[in-house]
Amino acid sequence: EHVRIFRRGGGYWIEDLQSTNGTFINGVPIPYAAPLNNADRVQLGRTLILRFQLQDKMEHAAARRLYDNAVRDPLTRLYNRRFLDERLTEEFAYSARHQSALSVVLMDIDHFKSVNDTYGHAAGDEVLRQVAMVVQETVRLEDVATRYGGEEFCVVARGIEAQGAMALSERLRSRISGLLIDTGSDQLLRVTSSFGVATFDHLHPYVTGATLVQAADAALYHAKATGRDRSCHANDPDVMPSR
Ligand code: GH3
Ligand code: MG
Ligand code: MG
Repeated sequence: EHVRIFRRGGGYWIEDLQSTNGTFINGVPIPYAAPLNNADRVQLGRTLILRFQLQDKMEHAAARRLYDNAVRDPLTRLYNRRFLDERLTEEFAYSARHQSALSVVLMDIDHFKSVNDTYGHAAGDEVLRQVAMVVQETVRLEDVATRYGGEEFCVVARGIEAQGAMALSERLRSRISGLLIDTGSDQLLRVTSSFGVATFDHLHPYVTGATLVQAADAALYHAKATGRDRSCHANDPDVMPSR
């Protein structure tokens, strides 16, 4: 909404789209449009500063790899907790601004320690990889699927209200429990998981993304305490409030 970058005559140009607080290149305000050169410092308004950089394909791939390694978990290639924390803050702000729902689904594999103890750590790792794949394949492209901790995963679903989030949670639950996991031993393994769900909406005005996750965690705790292999929503009156 502020600027447009386009190509013309073999070079790149930036055009200010009649913004109220201006666009600056290397500290100099641009009148209307100006050519961009590699490493130019682009300032939009008063606070947003960007660096314009031209990269060839190899440079781009290297930068991409560096970024991926910083935000993805090496075992499952899902996003890591650090990425989740950042995205959650953004998604929460977006939902508050647009008055749209935001749901968090937190899951924890049941009795995972016994998988390690019985079949070994390598088998446990394979279970984590396959479960992660199911999580990634089950969520929408705009949802954020992360490995939250050891055998815990977290999905942040934008625009999904409580009922839809429970449906997503149950879909995940049944797909994971239906998975026959080949870890190289004689038997195929099965695991179940427990789920805690929480939803930010006009009826449940959590104050931050972190408190929303805390509520999902309380619901997950309740799912574990009441038998495992099930989903609980933080709105369920039996779940200890943590708002
Ligand atoms: P619950 O049903 O209450 O969740 O029981 P649990 O056994 O799943 O829970 P607990 O938290 O006691 O055990 C989690 C286990 O996950 C312990 C830890 O060794 C294992 N774990 C965590 N990260 C990894 C990993 O990267 N690879 C493997 N193989 N195991 C892991
Ligand atoms: Mg756990
Ligand atoms: Mg567990």
